[in-house]
Amino acid sequence: MDINNFNEKFNSAINILEKFNEAGYEAYFVGGCVRDYLLNDEFSDIDITTNALPEEVKQIFRKSIDTGIQHGTVTILVDEDSFEVTTFRTEDDYIDHRTPEKVEFVSDLKEDLDRRDFTINAMALDSNGKLYDYHCGERDLRNKVIKTVNNPNERFFEDALRMLRSFRFSSKLGFEIEENTLKAIKNNAELIKFVSIERIVNEFRKLLTGRGNKRSLELLLDSKLNNYIPFLDEISKIIDFSNYTFCQSLYILSKINDISFEKLKELKLSNKEIKQIKIYEKINEDFSSNIPLEIILYNYDVNDVTFIASYSNYCDKEDIEKIKLPIKSFNDIAITSMEIISIIDKPAGPWIKEIIKKLEEDIILYKIDNTKKDILDFLMKIRDNR
Ligand code: ATP
Ligand code: MG
Repeated sequence: MDINNFNEKFNSAINILEKFNEAGYEAYFVGGCVRDYLLNDEFSDIDITTNALPEEVKQIFRKSIDTGIQHGTVTILVDEDSFEVTTFRTEDDYIDHRTPEKVEFVSDLKEDLDRRDFTINAMALDSNGKLYDYHCGERDLRNKVIKTVNNPNERFFEDALRMLRSFRFSSKLGFEIEENTLKAIKNNAELIKFVSIERIVNEFRKLLTGRGNKRSLELLLDSKLNNYIPFLDEISKIIDFSNYTFCQSLYILSKINDISFEKLKELKLSNKEIKQIKIYEKINEDFSSNIPLEIILYNYDVNDVTFIASYSNYCDKEDIEKIKLPIKSFNDIAITSMEIISIIDKPAGPWIKEIIKKLEEDIILYKIDNTKKDILDFLMKIRDNR
């Protein structure tokens, strides 16, 4: 192990482990950051595991937040950074194939690593950069495989979400899933029904944005795990989603597999996400009913339009970039709605909206100039034709 690289990557966080040690406790970097460090990948969060109890952690570090104190997790704030510190624990009483409500604190690092899902996620590093790897995680990193810690059937029976997590790590890292682990997923697939849709979507989101998403989706469909998950159960066609956001990927999945919007709602996405996917649908409808590109660009965000235009081959990104709209919104028009009402001279009503729409369109399509004179001509023609 290259100690300079360790110092550089973990930097000031090493002082935190030392602070635990000075207070008489053990503390280690653990999980994702160790895996990503060994892979030489960037990592953002540093998780720490310790034999200090949560109350003891809070005494050592004054600034802290009780993020999940019932599970033994405290977030400590040091300078500008925050770290999740979790007391060594086991998870014994799995009920209904989900992570347990209660956990038991233990005194041994190995026991804590034993409860973790995959060998590559079950390694720890101490403040000197020494690796603790009881489950051959380093070997599996080298072989690029996702393999459960201990018996896969038991581990998936305990917490069924781990099956989906296998595919999400396979996608994130571009790894294969070890044979017995994959077999166990096929055997236990139905148990995913017990897991809440929120936890499922959280993993699926990460799966879709991983570099190996296409291969992982293929493996997922092949395992039939998706048959027991709403929306995913209707997927048979996939593409490589590497260049798309989560919402864009869901929109594409719905399109190519002909899945209804109602079905998509079963994923209980946020309102913002639902709204975003509806916007994609509306832009697509506008394109297919031959509404001019200029008008579509006026009504929607340019990135959203570019996505639909390129995905459905309506036009190229270059065609969109070429367009310079004379106005961005009604505020840019050289007349106010009050003036419109006084010129048309009619009680306010839905007609105002219609006139504004026509006025905007004519300006955008350069049928009239955005000058007071042209707009007045436009309005007076309407008034006189009534
Ligand atoms: P990422 O960087 O993508 O977040 P991560 O490894 O940090 O990857 P998390 O889901 O944040 O993944 O989980 C942190 C660690 O907690 C994992 O590395 C693993 O050791 C453990 N873990 C998380 N969920 C489970 C689970 N359902 N069963 C067993 N261990 C788990
Ligand atoms: Mg994490």
